Amino acid sequence: MLQDKFGRDIHDLRISVTDRCNFSCVYCKSADPKNYFPHRDLLTWEEFLRLARVLAGQGIRKVRVTGGEPLLRDGVIDFIRGLYEIPGLSDVAITTNGYLLPEMAQELAAAGSPRVTVSLDSTDPVKFARITRTPRSYEKVMAGVDAALAAGLKPVKVNIVLVRGFNDDEIVEFARLARRRDLVVRFIEFMPLDADHAWKRDQVVTAKEIVDAIHPVFPLVEIPRSSPSETALRYRFADGQGELGIIAPVSIPFCGQCSRLRLTADGKIRTCLFSLREHDARHLVRNGATDDDIANFFTRVVHQKEPGHRINETDFVQPQRTMVYIGG
Ligand code: SAM
Repeated sequence: MLQDKFGRDIHDLRISVTDRCNFSCVYCKSADPKNYFPHRDLLTWEEFLRLARVLAGQGIRKVRVTGGEPLLRDGVIDFIRGLYEIPGLSDVAITTNGYLLPEMAQELAAAGSPRVTVSLDSTDPVKFARITRTPRSYEKVMAGVDAALAAGLKPVKVNIVLVRGFNDDEIVEFARLARRRDLVVRFIEFMPLDADHAWKRDQVVTAKEIVDAIHPVFPLVEIPRSSPSETALRYRFADGQGELGIIAPVSIPFCGQCSRLRLTADGKIRTCLFSLREHDARHLVRNGATDDDIANFFTRVVHQKEPGHRINETDFVQPQRTMVYIGG
């Protein structure tokens, strides 16, 4: 089983299946869309499945499919079906901007019903279009959330990246949305992974501020962690449906419990969101490596997993690869 040199068991894999995205969220991607990888540099579905199969043999139990926007890539539904066929993988999830869910939610349900997380950073349609730099995005994403619920893809989680001065005035509104539609709403601290390198520490809205804003309006009850590697602080409402989560990598780092590896669309393994070094799995799969060679490679790579992300260190360096190219 995969374990790093700090004794952390590695059992979660995030696969970014494409670097393409139909949104250009201001805190994520540059407004300039021209820097995509050529198609030949992206792993094929068969290559992704082979790497996932080898990793499942080494103890990976959960795969999250992300991007870029994963639903944009042709064949993603069959890929998800393929993940469900891998022995040992007990949990398949997808993170999507939700834009294509109205057309694809039923197919996702038929492919095995992965857990769905939709990103939605404002409850105001005009503001949301400004954040995503995409007209009518709010209406499409909300229709996507409805389609996911109607297709039985429960629970649907909604991710919100809070940026001070941008959408932190909507914290209570998001809590109301969770209650009204019985959603798991998760606030994520803004991280220095934006393409425009505009991140500033004072733009991070901390876990404490979020709880302090919501609790007086809708009293919250903390939910105990279901596993040590769970990243979210979880709360239910004292008096109703819906759930809140707070993912606070900046103000409450959880690196000591990290159980993740990331595989990028161009076949690089990243041992941390903030890794400055990547490990090339594509070269292996395209040059005759056996499954044993690949498994040995993963064992060596996991051994080099960083102790922590260093965002709070004075000499922190933002990685070159930004969120849309890593896969959140
Ligand atoms: N396109 C999909 C989506 O919108 O969810 C998947 C890819 S997106 C890069 C994955 C997640 O990363 C989203 O929830 C997004 O909000 C989050 N994200 C992007 N940039 C971020 C940043 N600088 N800090 C924190 N989260 C970020």
